[in-house]
Amino acid sequence: LAEVTDYDLIVIGAGPGGYVAAIRAAQLGMKVACVEKRSTLGGTCLNVGCIPSKALLYASEQYEAVQTQFENLGVIVKDVQLDLAKMQAHKQSVIDANVAGVEFLLKKNKITWLKGTATITAPGHVSIDDTIVTARSILIATGSESVSLSGVEIDEKQVVTSTGALALEKVPEHLVVIGGGVIGIELGSVWHRLGAKVTIIEYFDRLLPGFDKEVSLTFAKILEKKGISLKLAHKVEKIEKEGSQLQLTITNTAGDKTEHLSADVVLVSVGRRPITHGLGLEALGVPLDDKGRIKVNSQFQTNIAGIYAIGDVITGPMLAHKAEEEGVAVAELLAGQKPHVNYDLIPSVVYTDPEIAMVGKTEEVLKADSIDYTIGKFPFSANGRARAMNKTDGFVKILADKRTNKVLGVHIIGPHCSEMIAEIVLAMNFGASAEDIALTCHAHPTLTESIKEAALGTQKRSIHL
Ligand code: FAD
Repeated sequence: LAEVTDYDLIVIGAGPGGYVAAIRAAQLGMKVACVEKRSTLGGTCLNVGCIPSKALLYASEQYEAVQTQFENLGVIVKDVQLDLAKMQAHKQSVIDANVAGVEFLLKKNKITWLKGTATITAPGHVSIDDTIVTARSILIATGSESVSLSGVEIDEKQVVTSTGALALEKVPEHLVVIGGGVIGIELGSVWHRLGAKVTIIEYFDRLLPGFDKEVSLTFAKILEKKGISLKLAHKVEKIEKEGSQLQLTITNTAGDKTEHLSADVVLVSVGRRPITHGLGLEALGVPLDDKGRIKVNSQFQTNIAGIYAIGDVITGPMLAHKAEEEGVAVAELLAGQKPHVNYDLIPSVVYTDPEIAMVGKTEEVLKADSIDYTIGKFPFSANGRARAMNKTDGFVKILADKRTNKVLGVHIIGPHCSEMIAEIVLAMNFGASAEDIALTCHAHPTLTESIKEAALGTQKRSIHL
């Protein structure tokens, strides 16, 4: 590598991993460029992921609440109508504002946006279309893309991934969602609230594998009560087009029952795979793991000095905030600092109604690891604020070490728990015991009092239960 390079750092990909790394590196005095092939910055998250899905989840939740919850509060609204084009325009305006915000931040930090597709031609050398640029360090933050089922062709109109499901121009009559993970459940909820019949097919015997089993079973009951059909322990054999309809053949995993479903839209949400193609990794000899993710060491370094990777393209949960933490860490490592990403404390959230939020270990993991624990549980039905809001479904469950009372995991299903979980992550980051949380004064009446009560519950001394 020549002594004088164009940049200290070239980041490939401007998603939450890449653009955050670029900003932190610029703050630390590096000369930084960020390559992005999409016409806007922000990656999957801002363009076709977290942000647009939350815009539609919020808007559709209001639409449903007006019809199903307002009357009980004494608010009579007549002639509720859906203007889907306007709802989609709201989503787009949120995307536009966010991606413009990232562009502003890159400019503010004097980061060069190199538009195009990057390939690493040699250590320190990146080609963007026909131009070669050089850098002391290269960070791969190319993210992930949806996978399909074998034999199922995605047209993003009728057979869609999350990207097509975020952009439907008409509410489907019957939407079949293949895959009961976070993305399938969130987008299934959106279209169900807007009037579609929704069936979720999941191969596993419960929704949201990876979340606490009790939470997932409670949530399945709530979804069914809302009218979403669940086909758990089922798999899709084939999808055939018949006129304007799609015919699905599904079997149970035991293999002794076959059923046929007719749908006008099918959402395939069976997972995402890292984007590593076209980066030149094979020629460089950068190894991938069995799931196609770039192998890195604890310093996010590949086997080649000066080439790093973060975010969805490496191991770990495919979450925006995980990618951001890693982005900051790489920039600080390059500046000679000693950052640390605590992988035990990355919260996971499902933005449905009720919401689900978790951090730390599940009961299933604690049992498998033979760790003795106590449970403190508090239902929202016993929380005054939740009652005032008519949002009493769900509970807070705190798992604490039996001997030390240290918090090991927290699982919440209930209103606004996407926000409430931050208190827990902070507490756990300081190594809190459940008693530390219980000794903390929580404002009344708030939903967070349920956290305090669950914390008291680990020592069997909840007040309001
Ligand atoms: P990405 O955001 O995927 O960004 C990578 C960028 O690299 C892309 O813009 C891509 O165009 C670019 N790129 C790829 N290859 C090249 C190349 N060779 N040259 C130039 N540019 C390239 N996560 C959450 O935490 N919360 C949520 O609520 C949430 N909701 C989601 C909802 C949906 C529908 C989806 C699909 C995902 C959701 N996620 C959510 C996941 C989240 O979007 C990802 O974890 C996150 O975007 C990963 O960030 P990243 O920086 O690693 O990659």
